[in-house]
Amino acid sequence: MDNPEWPTAQLKLLEQSDVYRWFIPRHLGGLQWEPAQIASAYVKLASACLTTTFILTQRVAALRRICASDNVALRDTLLSGILEGNTQATVGISHLTTSRRHLGQPACLAIEKDSGYSVTGQSPWVTGACGATHLVVGAEMPDGRQILFVIATDAPGITVPHGLDLVALTASQTGPVKFENVFVDPSWLLTDPTQQVLAASGLTSTGSTQTSALALGLATSAVNFIEQESRQRPDLFETAEALKKQQSELEDRLLKLSSGIAICTNEELRTEMNSFVLRTTQASMAVAKGAGFVQGHPAGRWCREALFFLVWSCPPSVIHANLCELVGIE
Ligand SMILES: Cc1cc2nc3c(=O)[nH]c(=O)nc-3n(C[C@H](O)[C@H](O)[C@H](O)COP(=O)(O)OP(=O)(O)OC[C@H]3O[C@@H](n4cnc5c(N)ncnc54)[C@H](O)[C@@H]3O)c2cc1C
Repeated sequence: MDNPEWPTAQLKLLEQSDVYRWFIPRHLGGLQWEPAQIASAYVKLASACLTTTFILTQRVAALRRICASDNVALRDTLLSGILEGNTQATVGISHLTTSRRHLGQPACLAIEKDSGYSVTGQSPWVTGACGATHLVVGAEMPDGRQILFVIATDAPGITVPHGLDLVALTASQTGPVKFENVFVDPSWLLTDPTQQVLAASGLTSTGSTQTSALALGLATSAVNFIEQESRQRPDLFETAEALKKQQSELEDRLLKLSSGIAICTNEELRTEMNSFVLRTTQASMAVAKGAGFVQGHPAGRWCREALFFLVWSCPPSVIHANLCELVGIE
């Protein structure tokens, strides 16, 4: 699915599926699933539709930040709204750690004012903001401390433009959210202002196993296609076997790492997954030949979607390692 429609239609479809009925209550309510089961579910969901699964991860990211908040009153109010289905939250925090950092000035500036904060600027990347009722978003103060807060999308001074025209995952409706002197009451802060507020929460932000699971899900679609083609084309048999073996080894590593078995770091796994998803999707194009280059064939979409993993939530060490592979240096 890659059309500019607002993702609600996709989420509605997903909500009706068995995977969703199993996945959401266990993931969001009480964490009854083991982490490896959650990772495995992400692989399956991403293999079915990367865009829908990505949107889901951003909702879950907002939820995790809310759950981890030490502001109990705010947390409980938001959680009850989320559980009732009246509150839809998404997250815009990349400018606190990665996006626009080289500019030397905050993308989103928070000034102490009227016993609260006045926020101006933009959160450059927010997925599905136009369908959200609330945003988990960050801003930086002149002294370098950061605030992490929740704000209603219809609060005065907030503008949510239409999503950007993306290379892929267009239906995620990702784009900037603009802030013009938006008043943030201290009761909306998820935690006290501090340097590197995301790290202070103890939650991982970039390079987690979740992003690797989504990459593996997309790669799985491409590998399945190549395997299917190999049934009629014996010259592809060796290719399909080699990719299936790598897929199974990577899935094993993903599930082990998700379970807390330190076979490698998150970033090492992500580096391998990025390489794998780029290689498998391009292999699917080579296998599909010219037919794959025609709009509507999934191979072209898979190739474009794989590029996403070079830019989304990608720690510098992963980018560096992927660049070295692309450039051909050790
Ligand atoms: C489809 C999509 C969905 C996303 N969804 C979310 C989301 O829901 N929530 C969220 O928080 N984040 C989200 N992100 C953000 C993502 O995780 C990354 O933070 C983002 O892709 C970083 O890209 P950037 O262009 O902002 O990086 P930047 O570092 O700002 O780079 C932009 C440009 O600045 C220049 N530049 C970069 N570094 C330097 C330098 N050192 N010196 C000089 N010039 C430089 C380059 O020309 C570069 O092209 C999303 C990203 C994408 C693509």
